[in-house]
Amino acid sequence: MIDDFIKKYNLPEYRKTQFYTQYYKNVISSFDELSNWSKELRESLKTEVEFSSIIPSKVFGDVSKDTMKILFKRTSDNKLFESVLLRHKDGRNTVCVSCMIGCPVGCKFCATGKMGFISNLISTEIVDQILYFQRLLKIIDQKVTNIVFMGMGEPLLNIKEVFGAIDIITDPQKLALSIRRITISTCGVINGIRELIKLKYKGRLAISLHAPEQQLRESLIPMAKLNKLEDLMNVLDDYVETTGQRVSYEYVLLNGVNDTKKCAEDLSILLGGRMAHVNLIRYNIIDNGEFTKSIQENVNHFCAVLKKYKINYTVRVSLGSEIEGACGQLTTDNS
Ligand code: SAH
Ligand code: SF4
Repeated sequence: MIDDFIKKYNLPEYRKTQFYTQYYKNVISSFDELSNWSKELRESLKTEVEFSSIIPSKVFGDVSKDTMKILFKRTSDNKLFESVLLRHKDGRNTVCVSCMIGCPVGCKFCATGKMGFISNLISTEIVDQILYFQRLLKIIDQKVTNIVFMGMGEPLLNIKEVFGAIDIITDPQKLALSIRRITISTCGVINGIRELIKLKYKGRLAISLHAPEQQLRESLIPMAKLNKLEDLMNVLDDYVETTGQRVSYEYVLLNGVNDTKKCAEDLSILLGGRMAHVNLIRYNIIDNGEFTKSIQENVNHFCAVLKKYKINYTVRVSLGSEIEGACGQLTTDNS
């Protein structure tokens, strides 16, 4: 790590500032570009500090398109995982970061869940995903504007490393992004949400709900058995009260499973009177998936019910399905 290097060589504080500026703000592509450091120092740095903890193994799409996906290889053990860049028409460039390789939650509709849990990513491995896209965007004079923890893995089951990454992302000397531009998406890990309250998390929070009642929910999200819907809603009420922030709810529409009028009514009753926004997500087909995408008629009826109950909602247009970079399609089987 750079901090250890600076300590070891007893370098003055301004060297650290120089490094941060070049590495995080000017997003240099190699230590050779540290022009304000002596050649000798640069050479020592190159041999002792790794420039990036991950390297691209396969690239899908390119930075001029609305989505780009990278299959990364972790240098420490060559394990693979993916990240996505979403370029929105309004100028936002969102990196969908992974915080794990695989995921232990095992949602039935999710390609990552089907892989099972392989490993946690550490904070530098999370930040290096962002830096990789930042370097590409620099070429077209743009920047990463938003981060969503919606790639592989469950952020609230790797909260220490996720917060380590958020510290680097929001540090004014480093990536300097506002915390308001960060979204954590969770399948509803109650202890993790308690931790967010304790840590005074100020970013955005998205809850992957997918069902308005316990039984259906745990049939889709096995880990929901340990995180009962009623308890989840209670902790979210605490969250909203202490942070004053609205929570958004993600709801993947699965044909004939959770897209019925009854589900829409139950969802409206559950969220009525709460500060909530529902994101309806079109299901992205995955290999060996047992589900299909909701037919348009079901989507229309579902939306009509939410409207009747005055629940805020959006039907999310899913970018990236042509490169299997859309929600839930991330896996490492790209052969
Ligand atoms: N583990 C976290 C974040 C990663 S998943 C979570 O579950 O919230 C990011 C989002 O993609 C979640 O809302 C998830 O439910 C959704 N998703 C998973 N599989 C999907 C699929 N096949 N089609 C559409 N969305 C999917
Ligand atoms: Fe894990 Fe999220 Fe996929 Fe569920 S949807 S398996 S929590 S990554």
